[in-house]
Amino acid sequence: KSLVRMKQEFTRIAVKVGSNVLTRRDGTLDVTRMSALVDQIAELHKSGVEIILISSGAVASGRSEVHPQKKLDSVDQRQLFSAVGQVLTTKESFGTRRHYLNQKNCMTVMLENNVIPIVNENDTISVSELMFTDNDELSGLIASMMDTQALIILSNIDGIYNGSPSDPNSSVIRKIGHGKDLSNYIQTTKSSFGRGGMLTKTNIARKVADEGITVIIANGKRDNILVDLLQHPEETLCTRF
Ligand code: GLU
Repeated sequence: KSLVRMKQEFTRIAVKVGSNVLTRRDGTLDVTRMSALVDQIAELHKSGVEIILISSGAVASGRSEVHPQKKLDSVDQRQLFSAVGQVLTTKESFGTRRHYLNQKNCMTVMLENNVIPIVNENDTISVSELMFTDNDELSGLIASMMDTQALIILSNIDGIYNGSPSDPNSSVIRKIGHGKDLSNYIQTTKSSFGRGGMLTKTNIARKVADEGITVIIANGKRDNILVDLLQHPEETLCTRF
C-alpha cells in the first residue's frame, strides 16, 4: 500500500467503535472485524491522519470469556467483564479542570509521538450516576477536548434512516443540517451489547456538530468503511451532521 500523504478532508479525527461492531451476533468478540479496523486505522495514520480511538466492547468481550458461577448484579458484572484494559477515563475526570487538562495533555503527547490513544470508560470504577451515558457521550467529549475536525461513530447500521431501517422503503439521511427535527425518525431501541442507541447518538451528534466538528454515523461492519469515509466521502453511505 502506498504511504503517500494524500489530500484528505480531515487531518485529526476521533473514531468511536460500538460494542455491536466488535462482537458477533452470539456476543463473542469479532476479532476479524477488529483486525480489519486496526488495518484501516493504521493505513489512515500512515497517510497522515491523527486518530483517537474510542473503543467500546470491554464489557462485551469479558462477558463472552468469563462465566460467573453465581448470579452477579449489573455493577458486579460490568466490573468483572470490563477489567481487561485500555486508556481508561471516568466522567469525574471531565469534571475537574486539572484532570481534564491532564487527560488532554496525555493524549496530545501521545499524538505528538505517533501513538494512537485508545479510550474507554473505566468500567471497573464508574458506577451508576457517575457514569457517562454511554461511549457516544464519551466520544463527543473527547472529540471536543482534542479539537478534532471529525468524529466518526461506527455502529452496526449505515446511518440514520428516514423510517424503520428494516423497511425497504426507507433510506439513510445523508446530511442533517442545524436544527432539523428528527423526532419522527429515531428508533428508541437500544444496542444489544452496549449501553447506547440511536437516540443518544443523535443528541451527541447535534451537540458536537454545533461546536463545528463534523459528525459521521456509519456502519463499522462494512469493509474498509473508515478509509472510504475519508478517501471517498461522496460515494460512502453514512449520515453526516
Ligand atoms: N464502556 C463500555 C464497554 O467498553 C461500553 C459503553 C457503551 O455501550 O457505550 O463495554
